[in-house]
Amino acid sequence: MALEKYLKELILQTGPISMAEFMQLALSHPEYGYYKTREPFGLKGDFTTSPEISQMFGELIGIWCVDIWYKMGCPKDIQLIEIGPGRGTLMADLLRITRHIPDFHDSISVSMVETSQRLCEIQRDKIGNLHPRINWVANISDLAMKPLILVCNELFDALPIHQYVKQNAKWHEKMLGVNKSGELEFTLSPCAFSPSPNDETKDGSVVEICPLAKVIIEEIASRVKEYSGAALIIDYGYVKCEYKNTLSALSKHTHSDILKSIGMADISAHVDFMALGKVIVGKNVEVYGAISQGEFLRNLGIEVRADKLKENASEKQKADINSALQRLVGNGEKQMGELFKVLSLASDGIVPEGF
Ligand code: SAH
Repeated sequence: MALEKYLKELILQTGPISMAEFMQLALSHPEYGYYKTREPFGLKGDFTTSPEISQMFGELIGIWCVDIWYKMGCPKDIQLIEIGPGRGTLMADLLRITRHIPDFHDSISVSMVETSQRLCEIQRDKIGNLHPRINWVANISDLAMKPLILVCNELFDALPIHQYVKQNAKWHEKMLGVNKSGELEFTLSPCAFSPSPNDETKDGSVVEICPLAKVIIEEIASRVKEYSGAALIIDYGYVKCEYKNTLSALSKHTHSDILKSIGMADISAHVDFMALGKVIVGKNVEVYGAISQGEFLRNLGIEVRADKLKENASEKQKADINSALQRLVGNGEKQMGELFKVLSLASDGIVPEGF
């Protein structure tokens, strides 16, 4: 496999690499990276995200956005932003449902922040004719300086993390090296640092740190504060750190070995919502959540929306709507209601719905 060969050569030349560098290359290497080459989403892909499960998800987020816009006083020139839009399904459902509020559509311009050129093309095909003003940028810092309503689903879990493992009462960074037989192998950096005095974690504990998440959330918070608006962040994650490894690879809806099929499987880590929240505190924006996705979607009325959709549906369609609803709000291990969390930040005086 090309990417495995590339990693081995890189490590032999430069020494072991961090988990963050490994994740970055596995997902986004310009030639062999997962997002550049594979179709990750949907039944035929490797994983299914909430917008791909049901139109209800994007529709409710659309209504959430309109509510924010009303609360902002219906500004006439505002950007509606999605970061990491995947196949563009959330934005498509959002734009379709909000068409019924022409003043909202007339006031927004849509900005899609996406790093994968391949996904940009798919997004263009899907939403290109749903709004007259849509642009694509690769980086959040390229966005216009104006009021914003921003959403992202399953962006942060795809961002590269560093991992630190406690061994013999010291913290070591986990690295990827090459062993004597020439195979990729996880190692711990020989450099170590002592725990802080109040650190009671045991040997074997793992801490995960995502510097890029911090950069992105800080940029979002400073824009919300500066230009007014709100942001909604939804992801697979936790509020209380359990000091364990959450990095996993997913291929064809099944967990696979991270070092097998590098570049062919999705790699993600659970998002530390406590850490995200901490970055924003003190930035002069209000923080809401994180609460569970199930609670958030119920608060927004997903059950009412499901009933409405079922009114004119066949028996088969009704069963599909019920099972999608369960997937989105249910508490089980295969359901997203409890595992996924929702966090919002808003400028002064704007209280987002759903919390
Ligand atoms: N939101 C979509 C897709 C989630 S997958 C859904 O819910 O279906 C993660 C998405 O984030 C992909 O589109 C990927 O290309 C994009 N992405 C990854 N890193 C990014 C970054 N640093 N900036 C913007 N987009 C990024």
